[in-house]
Amino acid sequence: MTPTAATLDARDPLAPIRAKFHIPDGLIYLDGNSLGMMPVHVPERVQRAMTLEWGTDLIRSWNTHDWIDLPVRVGAQIARLIGAQDNEVIACDSISVNLFKLLSAALKLRPDRTVIVSDIDNFPTDLYIAQGINAMLSGKYELRFVKRDQLEAAITDDVAVVMLTEVDYRTGERLDMKSLTERAHAVGALTIWDLAHSAGAFPVELNACNADFAVGCGYKYLNGGPGSPAFLMVAERNQSAALPVLSGWMGHAAPFAFDPNYAPDAGVRRLTAGTPAVLGMTALSAALEVFDGVDMHALRVKSLALTDLFMELMHSLETEYGFELVTPTDHAARGSQVSYTHPHGYAVMQALIDAKVIGDFRAPEIVRFGFTPLYTNFADVATAVQRLETVMQSGAYLEPRFAQKSKVT
Ligand SMILES: *Cc1c(COP(=O)(O)O)cnc(C)c1O
Repeated sequence: MTPTAATLDARDPLAPIRAKFHIPDGLIYLDGNSLGMMPVHVPERVQRAMTLEWGTDLIRSWNTHDWIDLPVRVGAQIARLIGAQDNEVIACDSISVNLFKLLSAALKLRPDRTVIVSDIDNFPTDLYIAQGINAMLSGKYELRFVKRDQLEAAITDDVAVVMLTEVDYRTGERLDMKSLTERAHAVGALTIWDLAHSAGAFPVELNACNADFAVGCGYKYLNGGPGSPAFLMVAERNQSAALPVLSGWMGHAAPFAFDPNYAPDAGVRRLTAGTPAVLGMTALSAALEVFDGVDMHALRVKSLALTDLFMELMHSLETEYGFELVTPTDHAARGSQVSYTHPHGYAVMQALIDAKVIGDFRAPEIVRFGFTPLYTNFADVATAVQRLETVMQSGAYLEPRFAQKSKVT
């Protein structure tokens, strides 16, 4: 017999961590894959950065509170979660900007090649950045954006860079980072992995997979807050050769020498461009402390148990109400979210949010539920499915107010 949600919660070694988050009363939040919840200690830390560091200590804080090293300090906090070395990761900018920086640098490492490979179902910003770089370079590159089952075949010996997102933002399908990286290396190409739905969701193994470059988000599973800085990773072996196109002063070997000529920092820091966003970085750094001491393998075990339970409980709703599972049932091919298509997907999600279960919707008809093992518990999973059943049974989702689209979906 399947254990009940209460039994699973009682046995959960990560259960105490939930108390570190601010969880609004009665709310079930299955959207940590879009914006993570706020750890309770973060406001006080941001407050201190404002009143003491900014308000009182002012410009001195660059040294006395070490603002200047925030990108590398926060990068080191993230490194363990993604299987990289501390000196390979920095926190900065957004994923989009970091992709621009890494893709432009990686292309210059393979000057004789003319193809960029990606997944046509990749998150659009990833594809747009490749299109922008290609336009800047007068269309030198073939943008070989293919369906996932064509990826292996698309990676041929004219490919400069293979740029992929590990976990599909719509379906939650997880690609095999190790074998795709091997495939890319076998033909002499470099890899850039987008970890937007991986970092903080399960243990990522960048070094073990021999990945070259990676980017990821601060505001999703890392709970850094809205607009939080993102991060980027450059494998140590690529650092001295990877030359930034956004050659800003903060990436200079000696920013405060004010030399008129650019000379890159020796390490990954060369890929910072301008002044770090201190307040956002402070929030992200504080939020990351929630991961201190967390066994990432235990996190993965819980994530799979949460998504398994959700899929199991949803099973009876699938046929009855027309949901179709699009997330792989195979554990190895799954991230930490579960998605279904439904012809009234948008309205169903709006009605469910009205019933205090927050998930989200992705066009054209996907309802998406993210499971964040640090604060989602098994009781949440069971209650969420019950509330969804009520929404479907009552036909609440057919109310016209739920069909109204806002700017952000
Ligand atoms: C959320 C997400 C992004 C967001 O990029 P930003 O530039 O940080 O807004 C990029 N890629 C993927 C795969 C995402 O899921």
